[in-house]
Amino acid sequence: MNSRFPALFVSHGAPTVLIADCPARDFFRQLGREIGRPEAIVSISAHWCTTEPRVSGNPRPDTIHDFGGFPAELYELAYPAPGDPKLAGRISALLHDQGVECREDLSRGFDHGVWVPLMLMYPEADIPVVQLSVQPHLGPEHHLSVGNALRPLRDESVLIIASGSATHNLRDFFGRELDAPPLPYAGEFTGWLKEAISGGRIEELLDYERQGAHAVKNHPTPEHLLPLFVAMGTGGIGKVLHESYIYGAISMAAFSWQ
Ligand code: ZN
Repeated sequence: MNSRFPALFVSHGAPTVLIADCPARDFFRQLGREIGRPEAIVSISAHWCTTEPRVSGNPRPDTIHDFGGFPAELYELAYPAPGDPKLAGRISALLHDQGVECREDLSRGFDHGVWVPLMLMYPEADIPVVQLSVQPHLGPEHHLSVGNALRPLRDESVLIIASGSATHNLRDFFGRELDAPPLPYAGEFTGWLKEAISGGRIEELLDYERQGAHAVKNHPTPEHLLPLFVAMGTGGIGKVLHESYIYGAISMAAFSWQ
């Protein structure tokens, strides 16, 4: 029987959250237990940017270690979950019905935006995962309509995980300790996000570059925030799930739409 799942926006942070004792690690572990086991997962990661939407139709995706300068053990990690070509085809069709053309990519593996949260949430890696790309030049409205197209999946036992970062100023991230206190501008933007999401202020969120506190400083480029609009576009009431910070500049805030 199909059951209904929420859509999530999570901040995947740096891969160090996997090996460091931090509140975000505990949060992800608890989140997987709370949500329970979906039949499949769709992950929209900030680390797969394409000009037009792409969905992974690879039945056996590799683990991509798309980061530099981290401890060696992180490059040994693998997340061997299967893909789901049938679900990839369904996503393509749902987007087409919404007027959004989407092509399948048969060779794409899982980037760390996909596997860092999943390794903590579902460590058995036995739930099929399909990845969907973001289009940084197309802005929030486009990603909201992608989410709209994915809406039926939530009633088909599919968990939608949009994976980016609530704040993402990498210049301020380097050189700080993992447990450094949040920089005021990162805390202010996260606070604005929390209020706007739980208040259902969709128009204000779509205009985040102008209405969000220190928006451009927190997101010098938009790709880590855009997945949020996909999750939001699937509909429902927005809820704050988590707030913590790593390296002072990176908010690990997470939200769900029920
Ligand atoms: Zn990232």
